[in-house]
Amino acid sequence: MYVNRKHRTCLELGMLSELRKFPGNVSYSRIIQEIKSLNNDRKVHGILVQLPLPEHLNHKKVLETVDPKKDVDGLHPYNHGKNLLGKDCFRPATPRGIMTLLERTKTRLEGKHAVVIGRSNIVGKPIAVMLLNSDCTVTICHSKTRNLPSLCRQADILVAAVGKPHFIKANMVKKGAIVIDVGINRLKDGKITGDVDFENVRKKASWITPVPKGVGPMTIASLMENTVKACKEIEWPKNSD
Ligand code: NDP
Repeated sequence: MYVNRKHRTCLELGMLSELRKFPGNVSYSRIIQEIKSLNNDRKVHGILVQLPLPEHLNHKKVLETVDPKKDVDGLHPYNHGKNLLGKDCFRPATPRGIMTLLERTKTRLEGKHAVVIGRSNIVGKPIAVMLLNSDCTVTICHSKTRNLPSLCRQADILVAAVGKPHFIKANMVKKGAIVIDVGINRLKDGKITGDVDFENVRKKASWITPVPKGVGPMTIASLMENTVKACKEIEWPKNSD
């Protein structure tokens, strides 16, 4: 669903998008060879490795093979490091989209207490870093965190990236908080829901993102922004084809 949306949005924007599919038992060397060939292809400005990969593929090494200048998903350690330092780079699309959503609320982030639940490399860590670089005071929570509800209640900005339906209840949210729901959970009846008990939490929050149609579409928009950035900024060595 997600891959199709990205592909469709590229086409709507007039970008060429090509999906390269491989069988689940594809060899590590074949994938590496494919990425290296895309790295060297002047017609290609952005490369995205859709996660999760089959276990035998060592996703860290695969992601590290993507040229950082074409890493529009912002998952190469080089871009993670630059994000940490607050330098210009490709920032992962979901956190970048969250920052855009926060900007649009016109809330001054300086000094706000942001509580991020989740510490994945894709969402939790990079959004925590971006909020810190925007002068928030940041608390990062995970599965071993103690007194989670009480930490959540201190949040001016609460980012839920857990992957558990309705994990955040109204009694975990401070009145007037901004609540960003990153979770995408499929229920037994096939419906998609977030990590936040939206109907009850919305009564307390000043701003809240729905699921679907919240962070998801912003992730795709941010990926497109990253791709345009890659196209504008890439510099080819003079002696290459
Ligand atoms: P991960 O599974 O990698 O991370 C989940 C995090 O939640 C972990 O850090 C884990 O802690 C923490 N966690 C799990 N249980 C608890 C608990 N009981 N209390 C506190 N923390 C807990 O998921 P992702 O970060 O990749 O994704 C999170 C959600 O966001 C998923 O639903 C995913 O589908 C969705 N998502 C949505 C996107 C979008 O575009 N809207 C993009 C990417 C993801 P620990 O580290 O200790 O295990």
